[in-house]
Amino acid sequence: MKRREIIKGLSLLPVGVTTVGTLFTAKSAQATPSGKAKRNLLTELGVRTFINAAGTYTSMTASLMHDEVVEAIAQSAKQFCMLTEVQDKVGEKIAQMVHAEAAMVTAGAFSALTLGMAGILTGVDKEKIKQIPHNLEASGIKSEVLLQKAHYDGYEQALYNTGIKLIPVETAEDVDRAVNEKTASMHFLNCNALEGKIMHEEWLQLAKKHHLPTSIDIAADVPPVSNLWKYNDMGFSFVALSGGKAIRGPQSTGLLMGKKDIIAAAKLNNSPNGVTIGRGMKVNKEEMLGMYAALDRYINQDHDKEWKIWEERITIINNAIKNIEGVTTTIIVPPIANHTPTLHVVWDNKQIKITREEYMEKLRQGTPSIEVIGNKDGGFNSTVFMLNNGEEKIVAKRLREEFLKAK
Ligand SMILES: *Cc1c(COP(=O)(O)O)cnc(C)c1O
Repeated sequence: MKRREIIKGLSLLPVGVTTVGTLFTAKSAQATPSGKAKRNLLTELGVRTFINAAGTYTSMTASLMHDEVVEAIAQSAKQFCMLTEVQDKVGEKIAQMVHAEAAMVTAGAFSALTLGMAGILTGVDKEKIKQIPHNLEASGIKSEVLLQKAHYDGYEQALYNTGIKLIPVETAEDVDRAVNEKTASMHFLNCNALEGKIMHEEWLQLAKKHHLPTSIDIAADVPPVSNLWKYNDMGFSFVALSGGKAIRGPQSTGLLMGKKDIIAAAKLNNSPNGVTIGRGMKVNKEEMLGMYAALDRYINQDHDKEWKIWEERITIINNAIKNIEGVTTTIIVPPIANHTPTLHVVWDNKQIKITREEYMEKLRQGTPSIEVIGNKDGGFNSTVFMLNNGEEKIVAKRLREEFLKAK
């Protein structure tokens, strides 16, 4: 790299960063076909990158985008268009793909929950749109949402953002008793379905009986791919899904799918409209098109083949550690949410003298760095659906090495 180019490159850096010598190491400057060096800002900044053997965790940047998605983003980044036109046209296509009346791209599933809820509360009434999250009752906006006790997991905060109150219920009788003139809707958290007393169909029947709209959070519940349309087919009024988990769309995207009137109202509550709760949940054309490209790819990929690859990878990792004395491994597949082969690992601290935290730190500090995720049994879990091809061998080797060292 020429000195002149290095100096030019520096203009991108924050003021005060002057140590040219450390900015461009051999690693950070990759030759491109044109002969120009390509910058790697993560390397330049000294940001740790790692093999993600944990899963689609937001704090770990969750998922990597396929080339089609990156191309959709790069291409649209160079052209102007009207934002609502992109949203409407992308939404129309996505709605067909997921059997919904309408759909829109949101800033994550969390934002889809807030905007869908806002849509139910305000409809297309501009005055009501201005009022939330305050003054619900004074503005004639319904303010109560029913949720099963077992369905509280923290993500209901997305609904609170609109100003509603949640009313906990357990049984059908509780629902009948709780419904009153302030009741706006009934929400369902899909990943906790098996812990609650009321399943989907009954929840929908109860809502029908009381003439209430329904919503469901299925953020991390694809795969299976059929979940993309299952809950729309069942008749939920709106469905919220993450775009940046297994679908591998842009990490900052989600999908809101559902009834036409709710999606239309949700759009009015969203950016680019100014006096709304959604103005800070901005999604630009790049994310909308990236989400569309990712969904298209995801739906059309060979899911059986992908599952086989995951099973092969997890077997390689399991085989590397399962026979180490003191280590106990189990391959599990969570029934709902992160439904993918998962290696559950625990060990006997008398035989293997390392704490979970120390072990995970060793993996993190190794080369390459690896992330797994702690489990509730004092060990860790590892998934393979976010691995690049071949990384399973590195993970297998490193997991084994650190256990043997601790013997
Ligand atoms: C991940 C998750 C969310 C939030 O999804 P984002 O796309 O990150 O906004 C909401 N609900 C559940 C159950 C989740 O797992």
